[in-house]
Amino acid sequence: MLLGCIADDLTGATDLALMLTREGLRTVQSTGLPPANLDVSEVDAVVVALKSRTIVAADAVTQSLDAAKVLRKLGAQRLFFKYCSTFDSTDKGNIGPVAEALLGFVGGGATIACPAFPKAGRTIYAGNLFVNGVPLNESPMKDHPLTPMRDANLVRVLQRQTALPVGLLAYDAVEAGADTLRAAFDQKSSSEKIFIVDAVADVHLRTIGAALAHLPLITGGSGVAMGLPAAYLDASLIAKLTPPPTQMAAPKGRQAILAGSCSAATRGQVKAAIDAGVPHLRIDPLSVADGVQTKDQALQWIDAQPEDKPFLVYSSDDPDAVRQVQERLGRDKAGTLIEHLLGEIAAALPERGVTRLIVAGGETSGAVVQALGADVLTIGPEIDPGVPWTRSIAGIDMALALKSGNFGAEDFFLKAWDRLS
Ligand code: ADP
Repeated sequence: MLLGCIADDLTGATDLALMLTREGLRTVQSTGLPPANLDVSEVDAVVVALKSRTIVAADAVTQSLDAAKVLRKLGAQRLFFKYCSTFDSTDKGNIGPVAEALLGFVGGGATIACPAFPKAGRTIYAGNLFVNGVPLNESPMKDHPLTPMRDANLVRVLQRQTALPVGLLAYDAVEAGADTLRAAFDQKSSSEKIFIVDAVADVHLRTIGAALAHLPLITGGSGVAMGLPAAYLDASLIAKLTPPPTQMAAPKGRQAILAGSCSAATRGQVKAAIDAGVPHLRIDPLSVADGVQTKDQALQWIDAQPEDKPFLVYSSDDPDAVRQVQERLGRDKAGTLIEHLLGEIAAALPERGVTRLIVAGGETSGAVVQALGADVLTIGPEIDPGVPWTRSIAGIDMALALKSGNFGAEDFFLKAWDRLS
C-alpha cells in the first residue's frame, strides 16, 4: 500500500477512489477508520471517508490525524487530503487546520492545495477558483448554507485558515512543465509552506502529479490525484498500474435492488425495471407509519420471489406524493422511517442468500451500509459514470452498487449485473 487518503466527506471519498482506480491504483474505500489489520497486500491506495467538512476544526484535525496514523500503520508512504473542488470551508477551517496538522504529521516541509478539476468545470488561474467559468464568489457556492464561499482568491481564503504562509504556484510555472514546476516549488518553499496551484486543463493536473508526487503530503480535490498514479510508477514507487476493472468477481447468490431515492433518475430506473418484469414491492411510507406495512411482511414477500432473478423493493415516488407524505409525517420523520425500514430489510438479506445488492439513494445507501456493517469496500468496475460496483471485504462479503439518486442511465438496474462474474 502506497497512498493513504483522507476525505472530508463520503461522496468525495468515492470520487477520489474512482479517480485513483481509473488511473491504475487498486483502491479500497473505508467509511470511517479502516481496521488496523486490513489486508492491503493487493491494494495500492486506501481512502478513508470522514464526515469532517463542517465539524469544529479541532475535531476535524483529531479525526484526520487518527486516520493518518492508521493509514501509516497500514503502510502508506504518501498521504492525500481530499476536499471539495469548490474548496468548501469557512474562515475557521477546516482545510487549513487539517492540512497544517497533516503537514506536521509527515514531518513538516511544504505541500500544495489544489482543488482544480477542469473536466468538472473547476479551474484555478492566478490563485482564483472559477466554477464553470464564473468566479467562485459569484457562483451558487456564494449562498451555500454551511460553507458560503465569498472570495474566489484561494491564497487569501486559505491564509485566513492557517498560520502557515500560503503562496501561489502560478500558471506560467505549471504550463512550463514538471521540471520548472518542481524547481519553482523547491525555491519558494523556503519561505511559503502551502501553495495554491493554477490549473486550467487536465494536462496541468498531470504536470502537478509528475512534479510533486515525491511530496509526503498532497492536498486537493480528486482532480489533482489524476497525475499521481503515473508519477508513482515513473518513480518506481509502485510496480505497475492496474487497468480499471471491467468485471468484478462476486460471491454467488441472489440479486436485490433497494431504492429509497425519489430523484428523477431513480424513478426512471424503477419504472424501467418494473416494465422489464422485475418482481417488485412498493413501500408506502403512510402504511409503514400506520403499522400496516412492516419489515416482516416485506421479508415474507422476498422469501416468495424466484431465487434466480433480481427483485426490487422501492419507496421511490413522484414529487407530489412525496410532498403529501412529508406534510403528514414531517420531512425528517418520513425520511428516517424509510431509511430505517430499508436498513432493516438490508440487514436480513444476507441470511436469505442475497450477495449482490444495488442501493439507490445517498442517504439510503448510508443507512444500508451501516445496517450491513459494510464499511470497507474495494472499488470495482464503473457501471455508469460515478457509480462503481464495490465489494465489501471486512465483515460481510457482498457486492454492492451504491448509487446517488440522480446517477445512472435508465437501464441501470437491469444492466449492472452483467459486470459481475
Ligand atoms: P437521493 O440520493 O436521491 O437524494 P436519498 O436516499 O439521499 O436519495 O434521499 C431520499 C430520502 O427520501 C430518504 O431520506 C428516504 O428515506 C426518503 N424517502 C424515500 N421514499 C420516500 C417517500 N415515498 N416519501 C417521502 N420520503 C421518502
